[in-house]
This record gives sequence, C-alpha cells and structure tokens, in this order.
Amino acid sequence: MPELPEVETYARYFASHALHQRIARVNVRDERILADIRKEAFVRRLRGREFTAVRRHGKHLFARATAKPSNRATEETWLHLHFGMTGDLAYYRDAAGEPRFAKVVFDFDDGAHLAFEDVRLFGLANVVDSPDAFIAERGLGPDPLERSFTYKRFAEILDKRRGAIKSLLMSQEIIAGLGNLYADEILFQSSIHPRRTIDRLRDAEKRAIYDAMRRILKTALKRDLPPRSLFHHREEGERCPRCGTGTLRRTVVFGRTTYYCSAHQR
Ligand SMILES: [Zn+2]
Repeated sequence: MPELPEVETYARYFASHALHQRIARVNVRDERILADIRKEAFVRRLRGREFTAVRRHGKHLFARATAKPSNRATEETWLHLHFGMTGDLAYYRDAAGEPRFAKVVFDFDDGAHLAFEDVRLFGLANVVDSPDAFIAERGLGPDPLERSFTYKRFAEILDKRRGAIKSLLMSQEIIAGLGNLYADEILFQSSIHPRRTIDRLRDAEKRAIYDAMRRILKTALKRDLPPRSLFHHREEGERCPRCGTGTLRRTVVFGRTTYYCSAHQR
C-alpha cells in the first residue's frame, strides 16, 4: 500500500514526465475512480490545459493544470490523486502500452500518455481548486517531511493526544502520510512498543521516534532501507535483525497487522 515515500516517488515521476504538454484528451475508463465529480466535469476542467506543477501532502498527490495561454487570472485547477492500495502511474508513448487497469488516461498533444491505474479501486481521482483548501477541509495533519515539521511541533502534537503511539502515527489527521509499514518501522527503530501509550513516553523517547521518522522517510525516498530494517523481515518468529536477541512477533494494533521485536521494543 503506497505510503508517503511511495507517493513522493509518484510525484517525482509525474513531474519528470508529464509536465508542460497540452492535454489533448482526458479518457475516463472507469467512472468509479472519480470522487465527488462527474465524468463530464472532470474532463472539461482538465482538457486543453497543461500540468505545470506537482505537489504532495501525505499520501495525496496534486498536479496543477494551467490554461495556456493564461493571459488573465483564471481560477486554479488541480488534479488530485490518491493511490489507495494499488494505485500507480504509467507514462508511455505507444497507446498499446496502456496498463490493463487504467482508470484515467491523459493523451498529450505530443502523442504521449499518462495513465492512472488502480486494480482494486481504493484510490481516487478528482479535481480541486486548491490543495491547501482540501487539506484544511479534510483536517489532514502536517506532512512529516515539511520543513515546518520540527521536533517541537511533533512534541506539541503528542502532548495533546492520548492512546497508543502506533494509532497516532497512522492517523492522517495527526500526521499525514504514514501507514502500517512505516509506523511499524519507526517504532522498531526507536525501540518503542507499538502499544505504548503516548502519556507514558519520556522526552528522549519522543525525540527518538521523531528522529527515526525523519531518517526512515528520507532513506526510503532513496529506496535504500538498510538490511537491518524491519521492512525486510516482516515474518513472525524471525530473529530480530536489529538486536539479534529478540524474536519478531505479530499482533494486531488499531486493526492492523503489526510486527515488533520481543526484546528491544519497550
Ligand atoms: Zn530486537
């Protein structure tokens, strides 16, 4: 399931391939992917424009669609994509390269195509006027890779909350972008048990969680998680790759399968 680093990868892929070409056609192959917008409106708002910028917040990707020539102030229009569990992007030249589960395909003037595909339809495509307004309306928390997401801000967020640390890390309205895998990895690398309640965390432990979060997300962006990561060892009964003495255990926290080490996570 795509989490923040994967969606950032999609954002970079989108930006490096699909900008600055006029959208000649917008093909909606399956209307079920459209959220809160009719097919006709979705097509009308994007056709003839160019994607000019890409932005990501948490697991949400936004691509600005600009009217060209834009000699007057026009209203802002952004394509909004959420990748759900199986969303993906494909950019290709030959129409025969269209992915089997393409839900929306943009045909560009130069003959290339960008497809948004989604096998299981947990993702969505929409058009929004403003990413900031969307983030505010949805009540999404800060993105942990934002410059303004300092340790001080993280500690303030924790101070206002109760409950298990894993639930907090996964709540999009608290921190936007983390899912099950990265929440487990962050707690594994900061040696915190996933069921630990927030009010029982010492300052040094909060700091360790924050540092692990930033480090892991940045490392994941380079697709370079070290072999001692939980990521590569999500199997019950395996020896812990970090401390070497514990055994990896599986449990359910916040309704999600959770892996942790029996020894070094407290
Ligand atoms: Zn361990």
